[in-house]
Amino acid sequence: MQIDIITCVPALLDSPFSHSILQRAQDKGIVKVQVHNLREYAVNKHGQVDDYAFGGGAGMVLMLEPIVRCIESLQSRREYSEIIYMSPDGELLDQKMANRLSLLKNIIILCGHYKGVDERVREHLITREISIGNYVLSGGELAAAVLADSIIRLIPGVLSNETSALSDSFQDDLVAPPVYTRPAEFNGWKVPEVLLSGNQKLIDEWREEQSVARTEERRPGLLTS
Ligand code: SAH
Repeated sequence: MQIDIITCVPALLDSPFSHSILQRAQDKGIVKVQVHNLREYAVNKHGQVDDYAFGGGAGMVLMLEPIVRCIESLQSRREYSEIIYMSPDGELLDQKMANRLSLLKNIIILCGHYKGVDERVREHLITREISIGNYVLSGGELAAAVLADSIIRLIPGVLSNETSALSDSFQDDLVAPPVYTRPAEFNGWKVPEVLLSGNQKLIDEWREEQSVARTEERRPGLLTS
């Protein structure tokens, strides 16, 4: 899978893909993440990519021409299953959506900034709009990183068996059970006895019970959905 992220502030995306699981996924050749600087497609030599909003009001708007040029240039190189715009009013990201997106071949993620992007981009180029929650960020970059992370870790081969996504929260409409590591006792704080028992059947049953109890307590909506 190739994920192309379009942004006017590429530096904001320097770090998320350069460490840990997401870096390893790229090293293994399972996914390629490329960040594209919208300013390389600017309307003039000053690197202009935004302008005042028609009708007035505070805040700049990302112009459509640089975005059109950038997307067209990417499309001339490969085919994309989705061209996603990160937007607070988009479909809310959840694990099911991440699962579905992880099956796609290539995707473009467009990050808005300032007041957002010229609406005609959304009307004519964007195939899907995704929000990471009902709050407003300064730009789509952090949201794009969240979306890409949620997708990449689900691609087969990215996580090892020990960190398998299948045992994560939401994968089976349950939240994850608690986890512990050494030492087995610290300051009198003990790890549940069953986890030290070596009896895998009992451990699996305990984890299942904990998951269900936690889901009832913290995300009751998941059990009824
Ligand atoms: N004026 C817009 C917000 C612009 S915020 C409005 O009120 O809807 C600037 C950019 O940040 C947006 O274009 C979008 O790309 C991104 N963004 C902000 N909040 C987001 C969220 N919750 N999910 C996804 N992207 C978001």
